[in-house]
Amino acid sequence: MAKVLVFIDTPGEALKKASLELLTIARSLGEPAVAFNGELQDGVAAALGEYGAQALYRPSAAELDDYLVGPKASYLAAAVQDSGASVVLVENSAEGKEIAARLGIKLGAGVITDVVAVDPDGTAHKSVLAGSYMTTARATTPVAVLTVKPNSVTPEPAVTGTAPQPATVEVPETATAASARVTARSDKPASGRPELSEARIVVAGGRGVDGNFGPLEDLADALGAAIGASRAATDAGWIGHDAQIGQTGKTVSPQLYISAGISGAIQQKAGMQTAKVIVAVNKDAESPVFEIADFGIVGDLFEVLPQATEEILKRKG
Ligand SMILES: Cc1cc2nc3c(=O)[nH]c(=O)nc-3n(C[C@H](O)[C@H](O)[C@H](O)COP(=O)(O)OP(=O)(O)OC[C@H]3O[C@@H](n4cnc5c(N)ncnc54)[C@H](O)[C@@H]3O)c2cc1C
Repeated sequence: MAKVLVFIDTPGEALKKASLELLTIARSLGEPAVAFNGELQDGVAAALGEYGAQALYRPSAAELDDYLVGPKASYLAAAVQDSGASVVLVENSAEGKEIAARLGIKLGAGVITDVVAVDPDGTAHKSVLAGSYMTTARATTPVAVLTVKPNSVTPEPAVTGTAPQPATVEVPETATAASARVTARSDKPASGRPELSEARIVVAGGRGVDGNFGPLEDLADALGAAIGASRAATDAGWIGHDAQIGQTGKTVSPQLYISAGISGAIQQKAGMQTAKVIVAVNKDAESPVFEIADFGIVGDLFEVLPQATEEILKRKG
């Protein structure tokens, strides 16, 4: 049976949904093992077993987090050798993709990024050209490295859980020698909202918001949603660049995407077209956003959104 290695960086207090998705996919491909970095809480180790992990690899060097991605790729390359894995699954974040690229070079492995589905034989599916086409790709190298977008599968625990075998992977000393070291960190102020790329619901605003994200924030809080934005809104400085969705921003695949005051340019679509249900609010009935919307509301967002929020709060009691 193929060995499948899932990389989980700093699992923290509880596993992210994206990590559980990777483990669910790993089980459909073969025998899952996890290479993690950072502290591993007992509850997290138990959850990894519930999701079918047979082995848990930790790095011999504890300070990988003191560096940028280089040493993590070296650690993963060593973990692939130790585990005999033929598939490596990594989350599709900017850092995940950089680790995958470095790992691909180290192992001579085929790398497929932005994956939205994987067949049991390892064939990967991608949504490309602003979601207009689906493509399939399969690495023909002995090891394949896939970075998988969040919300690609429903996480499901294994039928029978395991007690994964712990193992330590020797990280070569040379791994950190020429790497950029992190000298300081500061916490980002918490918004209390879900992380944008993982959120089940996203409320996104564009130039039509005209500097006032208030009605979007109220709606997002009523729905437990994350806030996103078009580039016009982030470039205007109305919201941070980390909220940008699109070709040069984040890619999201939520269950529900509410687009308000966004025209639906191809570069914006590139980041959200795989959302399951798209609701667009725009005062211009000819706006291209309505071409991809499942539900369209022609109207002023400052009138529509507060009504929606009020109704949702009323129904929630
Ligand atoms: C290389 C490149 C990369 C890019 N990357 C990205 C990217 O990653 N993400 C991205 O978003 N863009 C990106 N862009 C920019 C993109 O081309 C568009 O310019 C941008 O998406 C437009 O943002 P917008 O829809 O908010 O603004 P606009 O196109 O100006 O649209 C505003 C919309 O709001 C509507 N509106 C106005 N007032 C209201 C109101 N009160 N109520 C309801 N509706 C209202 C208007 O009818 C209009 O449709 C990129 C461009 C390039 C060239």
